[in-house]
Amino acid sequence: MTGTTHEIAPRSGAGFTLNAGQTLTVIDPKGVQVADLLAYNAADVGEVLSSGRTLDYAETIRLTTGHKLYSNRSNVMLEIVEDTVGRHDFLLTPCSYATFDHFYPDLPRHRGCFGNLAEALAPWGVTEDMIPVAFNCFMNVPVDGATGRLEVLPPVSRAGDRIVLRAAMDLVIGLTACSAPASNGGSFKPIHYRVEG
Ligand SMILES: [Zn+2]
Repeated sequence: MTGTTHEIAPRSGAGFTLNAGQTLTVIDPKGVQVADLLAYNAADVGEVLSSGRTLDYAETIRLTTGHKLYSNRSNVMLEIVEDTVGRHDFLLTPCSYATFDHFYPDLPRHRGCFGNLAEALAPWGVTEDMIPVAFNCFMNVPVDGATGRLEVLPPVSRAGDRIVLRAAMDLVIGLTACSAPASNGGSFKPIHYRVEG
């Protein structure tokens, strides 16, 4: 069954529910665009996606098809079931006003993915302090193996690339079209998504 394709406008975000067993397809329709993804237990938003748990159990920072994304309570929230890119980030926090002050002091400030997620998730009782590291679909953050230095490079995703995640519990999802210049190759594109199943 093919679900409706929704568009997230450039530099904005969306909140929606994803039930256990349903799949979420996140599509980069134009290429070279990041989408920050957050997930909360729909029955208790104190349970949230955890970078630390996930990377610990996966034993890699290169998450792709077959890997599971865990909560702060070590429960599986999502499983990656398809991935046409193979390059995502789960190290860095959503971009925010503070990010812009730090990296782009000469550009107009933007509330970024953080502000967009906070607004999109507020109807479910999620507050700013409940927003952790997001799973950053298509974000390209290589780590130098010798020095540990991080870089933020343009995504390698091309138009139509996608990642598909299946929910292991009833979830509230926050999803953005990222607002940070370096993360998106210097221009801001929309993100598409579908809920199916
Ligand atoms: Zn962002």
